Amino acid sequence: MAKQIIGWLLLVIISLACVPAFAEEDVVNVYSSRKEALIKPLLDDFSQQTGIKVNLITGKADALIKRLESEGRNSPADLLITSDAGRLHRAVLAGVLQPAHSSVLDAAIPASYRDPEGFWYGLTIRARPIMYAKDRIDPAELSTYEALSDGSWKRRICIRSSDNIYNQSLVASMMASQGRDKTMAWLDSFVANFAVPPRGGDRDQIMAAAVGMCDIAIANTYYLGVMMHDRDERQREAASKVAIFWPNQDDRGVHVNVSAIALTRSASHKDAAVRLMEYMVSDASQAWYAQSNHEYPVKEGVEASATLRAWGDFKADNINLSLLGKNNPDAIRMMDRAGWK
Ligand code: FE
Repeated sequence: MAKQIIGWLLLVIISLACVPAFAEEDVVNVYSSRKEALIKPLLDDFSQQTGIKVNLITGKADALIKRLESEGRNSPADLLITSDAGRLHRAVLAGVLQPAHSSVLDAAIPASYRDPEGFWYGLTIRARPIMYAKDRIDPAELSTYEALSDGSWKRRICIRSSDNIYNQSLVASMMASQGRDKTMAWLDSFVANFAVPPRGGDRDQIMAAAVGMCDIAIANTYYLGVMMHDRDERQREAASKVAIFWPNQDDRGVHVNVSAIALTRSASHKDAAVRLMEYMVSDASQAWYAQSNHEYPVKEGVEASATLRAWGDFKADNINLSLLGKNNPDAIRMMDRAGWK
């Protein structure tokens, strides 16, 4: 009798073990180059609202794309969260993404901020304007990116290296508006105006302008936002010495890019993944997600943070950002030719 009971108990235990902990729709695996603190609270809220568990793996953007490539069809990832349309285009070419079809996403995200075929969807906008040292530059001296090739800017410009995707996308956007020849001529003169050989990230360029190594820097807006709120007093002080100038307001507008979300080719929890994508464009998610990294919400009608509103409104270059990816290889070649280190 005791043996029989033990036998029955074993059967019950084995059958329970065979039931998956989560049914297929009840989990989403996310690869994210956005830092955990800047996304996890939102994912937790999504799980609470839907009962869908989210597994988050964070890493460097290019390394995550490489990982998706090497894992291939067996990758556990359902979603990729990363920045820059140029980089997202590379992920499309690498074959690690698939289109997501969602009328919710199409309605929430303006067409220029998502891939025309649905391979990626922008979640936040970041601008890459000119930042100037307030004590040395009269903003009336500034106008466009194109004008920064003028000889009067010799040894006065700080910008990071050409291997950085943000700069490649900036050049790709100029190619889209000015064409290849004008862009090449611009690059030759612009690079000759660098104050120092490119070194460090966007924050370092802003710092260099603040301490007088150069008069203007080109950097993404959120770096200035982060510096303004940094715990380190030196960062806050540097940020206070620099102001934003929105270039090209009388023509194509300031160069912008996105942080985005994309469905992976390997996604085995597609329905749940698309639900998470749609959750990310709710008004509440948009406001929190943009504010957490001092970026602009991609959805119209959602207000930017007070820090960003204080920088004023601007006209953004509204080319479809997928063009940045298509122009990327040529942009890199031309930057090399111009001697942009
Ligand atoms: Fe960045």
